[in-house]
Amino acid sequence: MSALVTPETVHPHLFGPLLSRRLGMSLGVDVIPRKVCSLDCVYCEVGRTTRYAVTPEPHYGVAEVASEIEAALALRPDIEWVTFSGSGEPTLNARLGDMIREVRTRTATPVAVITNGTLLWMEEVRRMLMEADAVLPSLDAATQSVFRQINKPDPRLDVSVVIDGLKAFRKEYRGILLLEILFVQGINDGDEEVLALKKAVGEIRPDKVHLNTVVRPPAEAWAAPVNARRMQEIAAMIGSGCGIIADAEPSRKRASTELTPETIRQLLLRRPMKAVELRDAYHADDDVLRPLLDRLVADGSVVRRLFGHEEYFALRTGA
Ligand code: SF4
Repeated sequence: MSALVTPETVHPHLFGPLLSRRLGMSLGVDVIPRKVCSLDCVYCEVGRTTRYAVTPEPHYGVAEVASEIEAALALRPDIEWVTFSGSGEPTLNARLGDMIREVRTRTATPVAVITNGTLLWMEEVRRMLMEADAVLPSLDAATQSVFRQINKPDPRLDVSVVIDGLKAFRKEYRGILLLEILFVQGINDGDEEVLALKKAVGEIRPDKVHLNTVVRPPAEAWAAPVNARRMQEIAAMIGSGCGIIADAEPSRKRASTELTPETIRQLLLRRPMKAVELRDAYHADDDVLRPLLDRLVADGSVVRRLFGHEEYFALRTGA
């Protein structure tokens, strides 16, 4: 795993901070080896799943991760959320609950977890997330055949059990629950699946539903975004409490982390990014950022990828 490097620190489990479309300025915490997941989504930004898992295992030390977070927060007072997400499914780390508790003991910054939501039928997983201030699960399908197509789940997973897990979690959890549904053209954007999703959403009762589509280079090159008009129709079908995720406003706050080839590499390890996103995350000037990106492309560790009409920078596989 690459490291977040600042002049003062080395943080192997952290990435960013970056401007999240859902949470604002967010420090990413990656507590899963790349790429262990219960799903292998066609739109995944991290790449293909290399090891399926549905049982949490202990990864990394609690104090070690919490100390990294504490040190990074001291350097970046503009961070609004500590967000567990990253190179796979964070609830597959059996120490996640202890990590959340430790961060909450040491800092006042709220903690969020971005999860694929597939393991919430397990009581131990629901318990791990209880102390997070916000939990952001996904649900892209409500029928098993579409679940298989879009999320390519571990064969032990059944979407009706996944939905029951989300419902059970909502009943017990007092924090903010933001459900994301990502639509891929021709897979889960038909009326039948949208109506099945609407029914599931009505039963789960999240605080808000965020509708998304493929906006970055996906694991499967054929996974295409749903157009804006259809996204509006889907939003109208699903109804109140749902919104299409819009690009976050660039932060006005001055970043203090130095932009270096290594800080760029550790961000791109988790997902491809546009130059403008890197610029906003670091409040960097183009004349500083562009030569750094050119250098990384020239040394072969970063590649340019076109998706739609946008240019993304991605870490070369194996770099
Ligand atoms: S998008 Fe998330 S849940 Fe889906 S394969 Fe990638 S890491 Fe796993």
